[in-house]
Amino acid sequence: MKTLREYIKEAEEKRVAIGHFNVSNIEAIHGIYNAAKKLKVPIIIGVSEGEEDFIGKNEVYQIIKGIREKDNYPIFLNADHHYTFEKVKDVLDIGFDSAIIDGAKLTMKENIILTKKCVDYAKNINREVLIEGEIGFIGQSSKILDEIPEGVSEKTMTTPEDAKNFVEQTGVDLLSASVGNIHGMIKGGNPKIDIERIKAIREVCGVPLVLHGGSGISDEDFREAIKAGISIIHINTEIRIAYKEALEKYLKENEEEIAPYKILKPTVEAIENIVEKRLKLFNNLD
Ligand SMILES: [Zn+2]
Repeated sequence: MKTLREYIKEAEEKRVAIGHFNVSNIEAIHGIYNAAKKLKVPIIIGVSEGEEDFIGKNEVYQIIKGIREKDNYPIFLNADHHYTFEKVKDVLDIGFDSAIIDGAKLTMKENIILTKKCVDYAKNINREVLIEGEIGFIGQSSKILDEIPEGVSEKTMTTPEDAKNFVEQTGVDLLSASVGNIHGMIKGGNPKIDIERIKAIREVCGVPLVLHGGSGISDEDFREAIKAGISIIHINTEIRIAYKEALEKYLKENEEEIAPYKILKPTVEAIENIVEKRLKLFNNLD
């Protein structure tokens, strides 16, 4: 099977993006994988520090590895937003395919030092792992927000110079920049994505770009962002909403039911639906 790096390269050539979806439980893995299989597209499963503590780092690794080997399917596992070298080292030692070291809240100098340390560690592992670096603060929550999070503004958007400098000094494989995207979803609608900025950053930085905070972005902005140079798109908040709504609805309508596999089945289907829509859009299949 091709490596994740090769799939990302292929996505870039085809002008599509690989979907990255976060999970905290096995229902989400089933929903996401069902949708991907239907469309036969590669997929990345992500777990943040909080999510991996809940589902279990070893457990999620074994599940994803099990699916990949049994079905010979391009499903990959990423450590999403890890904040220390130790946490990154931990998941790489377990066997994750990639990790995000998020130093976006640090000074640029501190961020470069921390990120470089992770890249150096990854290079000495005896298999291919990718490290993604983060520059430009875009907020930290996967919630429904009343307004744009504090500390995020046009001024904190990434400049092409900063992106180029960061990639050169750290050697990261992938870069996430601040281009008008934010984590979480804004009640009154998300801000517009700065397409020209994506183009300019991709041109000078030399590595594939990742778009975080995909929930709530318009279809049109997604299409343009992919054309401009985005190769991976993160969706989390929409999955959480789909899960919670499906669960609430089922419990309300079936107060007597106690079998988890019945109670949780609609959550798998709800996640599958939302992921299928996103994958069609990202892979240009609709
Ligand atoms: Zn993110």
